[in-house]
Amino acid sequence: MRGSGARAGAAGLGCSGGGSPAPLWTCLLLCGALRSLLASPSNEVTLLDSRTVMGDLGWIAYPKNGWEEIGEVDENYAPIHTYQVCKVMEQNQNNWLLTSWISNEGASRIFIELKFTLRDCNSLPGGLGTCKETFNVYYFESDDADGRNVKENQYIKIDTIAADESFTELDLGDRVMKLNTEVRDVGPLTKKGFYLAFQDVGACIALVSVRVYYKKCPSVIRNLALFPDTITGADSSQLLEVSGSCVNHSVTDEPPKMHCSAEGEWLVPIGKCMCKAGYEEKNSTCQAPSPISIVKKGKIAKNSIFLSWQEPDRPNGIILEYEIKYFEKDQETSYTIIKSKETKITVDGLKPASTYIFQIRARTAAGYGGFSRRFEFETSPVSVAASRDQSQIPIIAVSVTVGVILLAVVIGFLLSGSLFCSRRCGYSKAKQDPEEEKMHFHNGHIKLPGVRTYIDPHTYEDPNQAVHEFAKEIEASCITIERVIGAGEFGEVCSGRLKLPGKREFPVAIKTLKVGYTEKQRRDFLGEASIMGQFDHPNIIHLEGVVTKSKPVMIVTEYMENGSLDTFLKKNDGQFTVIQLVGMLRGIASGMKYLSDMGYVHRDLAARNILINSNLVCKVSDFGLSRVLEDDPEAAYTTRGGKIPIRWTAPEAIAFRKFTSASDVWSYGIVMWEVVSYGERPYWEMTNQDVIKAVEEGYRLPSPMDCPAALYQLMLDCWQKDRNSRPKFDEIVSMLDKLIRNPSSLKTLVNASSRVSNLLVEHSPLGSGTYRSVGEWLEAIKMGRYTEIFMENGYSSMDAVAQVTLEDLRRLGVTLVGHQKKIMSSLQEMKVQLVNGMVPL
Ligand code: AMP
Repeated sequence: MRGSGARAGAAGLGCSGGGSPAPLWTCLLLCGALRSLLASPSNEVTLLDSRTVMGDLGWIAYPKNGWEEIGEVDENYAPIHTYQVCKVMEQNQNNWLLTSWISNEGASRIFIELKFTLRDCNSLPGGLGTCKETFNVYYFESDDADGRNVKENQYIKIDTIAADESFTELDLGDRVMKLNTEVRDVGPLTKKGFYLAFQDVGACIALVSVRVYYKKCPSVIRNLALFPDTITGADSSQLLEVSGSCVNHSVTDEPPKMHCSAEGEWLVPIGKCMCKAGYEEKNSTCQAPSPISIVKKGKIAKNSIFLSWQEPDRPNGIILEYEIKYFEKDQETSYTIIKSKETKITVDGLKPASTYIFQIRARTAAGYGGFSRRFEFETSPVSVAASRDQSQIPIIAVSVTVGVILLAVVIGFLLSGSLFCSRRCGYSKAKQDPEEEKMHFHNGHIKLPGVRTYIDPHTYEDPNQAVHEFAKEIEASCITIERVIGAGEFGEVCSGRLKLPGKREFPVAIKTLKVGYTEKQRRDFLGEASIMGQFDHPNIIHLEGVVTKSKPVMIVTEYMENGSLDTFLKKNDGQFTVIQLVGMLRGIASGMKYLSDMGYVHRDLAARNILINSNLVCKVSDFGLSRVLEDDPEAAYTTRGGKIPIRWTAPEAIAFRKFTSASDVWSYGIVMWEVVSYGERPYWEMTNQDVIKAVEEGYRLPSPMDCPAALYQLMLDCWQKDRNSRPKFDEIVSMLDKLIRNPSSLKTLVNASSRVSNLLVEHSPLGSGTYRSVGEWLEAIKMGRYTEIFMENGYSSMDAVAQVTLEDLRRLGVTLVGHQKKIMSSLQEMKVQLVNGMVPL
C-alpha cells in the first residue's frame, strides 16, 4: 500500500454553530474548482466519483448523528456530496460512513483519491483534549451488494489519513480553505467488488470528494501491432507481458510484445509487424514498379523448378533486380528469398513431389513494388524405378558434382572468412544463375530460410551502385532542414522534416557532407547509407534515403528525439527505473542480434553510438566501413596500426584485430555498464595502455552502483577472455526478457560491501573504502580467528596490513596453506582494486 499527498487551495466559508464547530460550505467556488479537475488521465478508469453522481450516493452513516451529508447544490443544481463530522468536544467518537457497493470491473488493484479539509486542533478553544487530526479508511470485499451489513471489525484497514494542511480560524477569516488530496491503493482484490468505510474518531473533517479508480495501459498501436486496453497487475511492481496483434494487412516479423506497468504505462516494446506484400506504404505518384502479373514455370525436376516472368507493366524506372520469395505450401512462416537480375531463374534445393508457392517483385531506385499474386508449382516425384535406371547416372553424377562444388564453396567461405555475397564471390556460378543471389546463406553456413545477409559494399566495384542498390534517392526539395543537432566526421548533423509525395511529413535527422570533400570522403560518407539501407529492424536506426544528385550530399534517417544514449543518460542520471534501463539494454541486444544474424560486425558498439527516441527505444547506429573507427574520438592507434576504441573492445580484437560478433558481445557488456552507471566513462581516467594491461591480466570493471546482480553477472559473462564462452546475442535477449518478465529477479543488487567503487582510486589507505578495521576484513573473508594475532603483532590498521607478506603470515602462525592463500589473495585483490578500481575475474 502506498500513499501520495497533494495540496490544492480552494475557497470556502468557515465553521459556526454552538459549542461544536463544524466546517460548513458555500460550495460554488469550491465546486467550480473541483469540477474543472474532473478529467482523469486516460490510463485511469473511474469506478466511483462522488462529484459526478447526480442522485443520492446511497452511503450510510452511523451513528446517525455522526457523519452528515451537506445538502448543497452547485450552480447547475447538481448535488454536491460532501460529508462532514466535527465532534471534537465529545469523548469516544466512533463515527462510520459506509459507501455503497463498488464493482471493481475486473481490476485487482484499485486507487482511492480523497479530497478533504481538516480543522487544526490547536485552533479549537478547549477542544484539545479530545480533538483528533486524522481519520481512517477501510474496505470490505464482497461479490455483491449484500455484504453491507457486516460488522465494522470485518472491514480491513487501508490507512490512517492525516492532513498535509489543516485549517485554523485565521484561514477561515481569510476565506482560504486548505484542501488536501490523498491517494491510497489496495490490492490484490479477489472478489467482484468492495465497500469503503471512513471512520472518524473525533476530528473536524469535511470529506469533499471520493474518487475510486483503477489503472490500465490504454489500447495503443505500436510497430503496426495493436495492444488492447490492459488492466494493470495486482502488484505495485508487476509488469504484465502483453502480446500485440498485427493490424490489418500486416504480418508478424518478430512477435510484438509490450509490458504494462502498474502505473499504466507501456514499457519495453519488443518485436513488430510488417506490412504484407502489396500493402506497403506507397508513394501516391506510383514511383515503385507495379506488381508482376505473369509468372511461368519451365523445366521441372524433383529438386528444382525453372521460372520466368514478364517485366511489370509499369516499371517506373530501371529495374535493378527481382526478388523471388518462395515457400512450401502451407508453411509460409519459413520462406526463402532469392534475387535475380534477369526475368528467369532456376530455383533449386526443393523437395521432390512438393508444392511450392512463388511470389516475385521488382525493385527500382524507388524501392520494391508489390509482390505478384501467388503462383503454385509442384516439383516432380522421385521415381524408384528411374533411380535404378542407368540413364540416371549422369544426373546422379551432376548432383554429386553440384554437392562437391557446394561443399567446396562452403569450405572456401570458411577459409576466407568472407560473407556470402552473390555473384562477386563466385558462389552462384557453381549452380545458380550468375545474376541471382540466395538470401539464406551466411558465412558459409546454410541459414534458416528468410534470414537476409549483409552485403559488404566494398564488394561493389562502383560504390555508387551500392548506394543506389540499398538506399532510396530523395529529392532535396522534399527535405526541410531546421537546426543543427550534432557534428559528424563529414559534416553537420541536422534535424528537419521529410515530406515525400503522398506521405505525411515527418521528422528526420539529416547528415550532410561538407563542401570540398574528396571522392574518398564521399564514398566513405555514403558507405554508411549502403550499410544502413540493408537493415530493417526496430532497434537499428532506419535509413529514409540519400540525396546524391544535388549538393550537399545528405543521408536522411529517422529522427531520434533524445539523441545519443551516453549524453542522454548523463543528463538524466538516476531518473529511470531498473526495468526502463533493462528495456533499453534489451532493445540494443535485439538490434545486435539482428546485425549478427545478418553477418554484420559493428566493431564500435558503445553508448555514444546508440540513439534513443522519445519512447526510450534504443537503436544501434553509426555504421561504416573502415572509417567507423577513424571518426570515433575514442579510437586510438594500436601497435599494429589501425584505430580501435580500446575501452569498448575485446582483447583479441585489440591484439590481433579479431573482430567478430563475439567481440561485439564484449562491447555490449561495456554498454551495459555504461547504461547502468548512467553514462560513466568505462575505466574512468585510466590510460588506454593501463586498460589493455589490466584487462589482459584478468581484471574487469566493478559493478556500477545499485546494479542488479543478474545484470552484473551478464556483463562479466560478456567479458569472458575466451570469446567462445561469451553469450550470443540471442541468449542475451532471452536472458533480458526473462528479467523483464520477472522484475523481482532484479531486486537483488550486487552486494554493497563486495561492490568496489571507483572512489577507491582516490582513497590511498588500503581498504579504507571497504573495511573499517582489520577485524572486519578478516571476518569478511572468514579468517576472523587471526584477528588477535594480527593486532598483537602490530597489524592493527589496514595500512599496516597492506605490507603483510607470505613470510609474515608464516611468522604469525598462519600455517595452513589454504588460509595463507585466502589472506594473500584478498590483500592482492584489494591492492589491485585500489590501483585500477576494478575487480579481478
Ligand atoms: P554521428 O555522426 O552519427 O555520430 O552523429 C553525431 C551526433 O548527431 C550524434 O551523437 C547525435 O547526437 C546526433 N544524431 C545523429 N543521428 C541522429 C538521429 N537519427 N536522430 C537524432 N540525433 C542524431
